[in-house]
Parts: sequence; structure tokens; C-alpha cells
Amino acid sequence: MSQTPLLQLNDNGLYCAAGDFYIDPWRPVPRAVVTHAHADHSRPGCDAYLIAEPSFHVSNWRLSFGLPEGAKPPIETMPYGESRTINGVTVSFFPAGHIIGSAQIRVEHKGEVWVVSGDYKVAADPTCTPFEPVSCHTFITEATFGLPIYRWPDEDVVMSEINDWWRGNQLAGKASVVYAYALGKAQRVLAGVDASIGDIFVHGAVNNMNKMYAASGVALPRTTYVNDAPPKTDWSQTLIVAPTSARGTPWLRKFGKISTAFASGWMQVRGQRRRRALDRGFILSDHVDWHGLISSVEATGAARILVTHGNIPTVVRFLREERGLEAYGLNTPWAATAEGEEEA
Ligand SMILES: [Zn+2]
Ligand SMILES: [Zn+2]
Repeated sequence: MSQTPLLQLNDNGLYCAAGDFYIDPWRPVPRAVVTHAHADHSRPGCDAYLIAEPSFHVSNWRLSFGLPEGAKPPIETMPYGESRTINGVTVSFFPAGHIIGSAQIRVEHKGEVWVVSGDYKVAADPTCTPFEPVSCHTFITEATFGLPIYRWPDEDVVMSEINDWWRGNQLAGKASVVYAYALGKAQRVLAGVDASIGDIFVHGAVNNMNKMYAASGVALPRTTYVNDAPPKTDWSQTLIVAPTSARGTPWLRKFGKISTAFASGWMQVRGQRRRRALDRGFILSDHVDWHGLISSVEATGAARILVTHGNIPTVVRFLREERGLEAYGLNTPWAATAEGEEEA
């Protein structure tokens, strides 16, 4: 390893000194290369952004906040698998399977290769390009669900649980309100449910993101924005997809009798559903589970692993003791927010 690591943390973010750019910076910097459009990774105020092409519409939406009317954020896109040289450092994007346009960032300089996973998952998701392992010397992995207790059920099983719950609520005369993170999870739920069961309505936050997915060419079932619902809508037969911020708010009153559910990896944790006063929990995560994490790390062939974003000590210890890898923790503010937790 050279004296200056190819990527290292400073006050602004994960910095590549050789190329003079940042990956997912949390403060405004001259040049940002960004893994995906979730708020903890994609922050406004940078002079230039380089993102994966399918992330354009969601990133443009995210980064347009606070800009003067008509101003466009300084975004450049690059397709997955292509590369570009920034001050002698080669940068390329590979699919991370997390949400639309999410990318792992491969950085190569003088024969040394690092890959930054961003957030990623290996489970099937019809709304984004599947994760692809990339060989490298150093892999920076997230560890949101980096504990052996996390083991995701098959997504087909989860989707049929959601369908069964919806049908059951129809018989009981209750509207089915499923909470799902507005960017990524909501669209994954929509793409997976059986839209022949009934009409589907969405909260404004989900509706905005659905428009971005439509602009990006992702097929989703027909949905109606709740505010555009016909006056005599029989909510008891409908599915309503809303962000968790709608939980416990007066917005829910118009639906009459409801059953509530949350689609998230956190639903695997005992007590979480009750603590959040939900009727149902569906285990559906946009992050890797324990097995997915360890097998993805192994698939990179990397000898050195930097672990960020979640259960760092457990993953570091396992990779050192059970896999003989050089593993370290890397403390970043990614997913440090409540919003980040809900995204999971
Ligand atoms: Zn994310
Ligand atoms: Zn994140």
C-alpha cells in the first residue's frame, strides 16, 4: 500500500487525494462521486456530481432542493461499467442492487483497486439493476444488518404475505396501509404486490418518487395519489403506500378503519413491530443480510475490508477471526439519521 491511502476520511467525507474528489461527501466539496440518491449519501451544495446514469432522475430531484427556480444541479452521469479518468485516477460504476441507479464505485490508481459499496443488496428487486461483485484489493462495505441474526426470507414469500394481508383486510372492511421508505422500498413493494387485488393509492412523497421511476423507465402498477382520489372512494378495499413519517398522523383519518404494516429489515427484530404500534411487519430490506454481506465481501477477493454504516465491530471481528482478512472499521455519518434507519 502506498503511503497515502487511495481513499481516506476527512472532515468533508471519503476523499481520494490522488484524484482530488470525494465519494458521498457530507459537506459541499468541489467534486463529488455519489453512490445513490438517499439523503445520507447524496447531499446538496457540491460544485459537480458524477453519478450512475439510472440515478439521474432521483438524484436530480434530490439535489434540486434549495436551488433557485429553474436552476439545475451540476450532475454528470456515466453508464454502469464505463470508466472515466479524474486526475489520473480511473473511476467506474457497478450496480449495487439497492435502489434505482445505486452504484458501487470502483477507483483504480497505479494498479491499486478500491471499491466502495455504498448501500447494497443481493436479493431480487425488479426496480433496479442487480448487484454485481467487483474484484478489488480493498472493499469498503456497509454493515447496516451486519449481525448473524439477520437472514432475509425469500422476497416472493414476503410479497405473498403482503397480498394475503391485503385480501384479509378487504374481508374485514379495513384499508391496508403499508409504510415503506418513499425512495426505493415503496417502489419495490408496488412492483411486487398483486395489483389485481384492488386499487392502490399512494402518499405524496411516494407519488413524487413514482414519477421519477416512471421517467427512468421502471414499470410499476397503476397508482393514484391519495389527494386525487374520487370523493366516494371505498378505502376498505384499497392498499395505501405511505412513508413512515405518516404513521400516527391525522392524514390517516380519512381512510376509516385501517390495518397498518411496515416493510423493512428492522421487522426481523423482536419487539420492533409492537414498539411502533403496527399490526404487521414484513421483512423486506434494501440492504444485504448477514450471509449476503459475508458472501459479497468474499466475492470481491479483497484482502482488505473497511466496514462502515451499522454493526461495524461484529463484522470486523468476524472477517478477521473467521476469514483471516485485514478488516477495519470506518466511521462515517452515512445512515446516522432516523431517515437512514427507515430506509432499511
Ligand atoms: Zn441507501
Ligand atoms: Zn445509507
